[in-house]
Amino acid sequence: MTTDSMPYRLFLDGAYCLGNGGPSRPLINPSTGEAFAEVESAGVDQVALAAESAQRALDGVWRDLVPGKRAEILFRIAAVLRENTEELARLESLQVGKPIGDSRDEVGLGARIFEYYAGGISRFYGQTIPVARGGLDFTLRQPLGVVAAIVPWNFPFAIACWKVAPALAAGNAVLLKPASLSPLTALKLGELAHAAGLPAGVLQVLTGSGGVLGDALVTHPLIRKVSFTGSTSVGRRIMNLASQNLTRISLELGGKSPNIVFADADWEKAADTSPLSVFANIGQDCCARSRVYVERPIYEAFVARFVAATRRLIVGDPFDPATQLGPMVSAEQRSSVEEYLQDARRSGSRIQCGGGRLDSKGFYLEPVILTEVRPEHRCWREEIFGPVAAVVPFDDEASMLSDVNASPYGLSGSVWTRDLSRALRTTRIIQSGVLSVNTHSSVHVEAPFGGFKQSGFGRDLGMAAMEGYSELKNVYVAE
Ligand code: NAD
Repeated sequence: MTTDSMPYRLFLDGAYCLGNGGPSRPLINPSTGEAFAEVESAGVDQVALAAESAQRALDGVWRDLVPGKRAEILFRIAAVLRENTEELARLESLQVGKPIGDSRDEVGLGARIFEYYAGGISRFYGQTIPVARGGLDFTLRQPLGVVAAIVPWNFPFAIACWKVAPALAAGNAVLLKPASLSPLTALKLGELAHAAGLPAGVLQVLTGSGGVLGDALVTHPLIRKVSFTGSTSVGRRIMNLASQNLTRISLELGGKSPNIVFADADWEKAADTSPLSVFANIGQDCCARSRVYVERPIYEAFVARFVAATRRLIVGDPFDPATQLGPMVSAEQRSSVEEYLQDARRSGSRIQCGGGRLDSKGFYLEPVILTEVRPEHRCWREEIFGPVAAVVPFDDEASMLSDVNASPYGLSGSVWTRDLSRALRTTRIIQSGVLSVNTHSSVHVEAPFGGFKQSGFGRDLGMAAMEGYSELKNVYVAE
């Protein structure tokens, strides 16, 4: 494993440059607990400078580029990302401890996202509207201007791509703010996009603490939209601050997603696939199916099979190709999960498996399945953001659904049943932005992704994301 000796710098206006926000900060490799690189922090005044140069790049070049040229650049970015898969994947695994295979998949997903939106540029239609008084009425989709994309550390590269690509495709310039734990693949994205032909200033990457840079980004008058993915508490702060300039926001926040297994389902398949629906990325996933509802007649058998499948998961070194689950992202994140486990023990829940640390200096935690959990327990109600699933039996569909909808969150969920009417009924009733039936797969590049209730609003992915980065203008021409 290499240690990068030079501090990583900010990527502003087409070049790497020093940050003036204080001394550079160490990045810790979660699988060893040791520092492996340093990164510069942007100063608050650099936020303003970046916003101004983004506006200049927009006005001077990007806004007026013909759609075909914009598409060509986005396709080239995708190609350059693919060529750099190994380097991007290495950086992702180093900074957040993700298994290397998952990191490669994330880079592939990022490239696919750029391709999808490159193709989407020529399908980003307005409408002609038959207004009552005749003449010609039509709508135009126009860029918002400079957009701030603030992204978390759990899928740092994929989420950066799924905000940056549609925003660029719609003709905006972007200031990308990665999480302090995971700046490296975002910086590389800025560099590679520029190398692929994106004009200087159209995508800039500001590293540093969200607490320091966040307010400056959200309140800067040139920023027309803040697209945020992260915790509900930071989302709430952004929403308050954005009201100052009536800046548009989209918020993709936390989740506490259900996995509902009816007795008529292929429950063996459900049990075999449920471990990765909650423990993939070591549970640090906003869509983690962490509340498992199982219909009473199959409850005991399901739990036994779910536990057995979980015990087979391989936890270990992210750079070992056999590894399925790496370490947690930080010592703090692991401690916060362990506090939830202590609380679960105190409340009388039973730990069916997991909860141990590996014999390593890395931040490992074996995946945990809890039973005998009550609706009022914190482990059942709160987003843990770690490898903890809780399973409960249910007898009655209506009261189970009412418990599902009692959560303040509404991001994703799975329903397992062979009864089509039940599938249609339950997916209509569950208050959630994305749902899957007889699978756990619910995130697709081509389909909208986002939450209900305190999981946020606005949509990433699909053409809905591109619409969210555009103004809708109506033009009427008299006959
Ligand atoms: P976080 O809210 O701590 O940080 C997210 C980003 O916001 C980071 O870039 C951080 O630096 C920045 N930030 C921190 N304080 C800020 C402030 N005051 N103003 C502006 N920006 C600020 O979240 P995290 O710990 O990085 O990620 C975990 C959370 O993200 C979980 O709650 C998870 O559910 C959520 N998440 C949601 C989705 C989704 O699509 N709904 C996807 C991934 C993660």
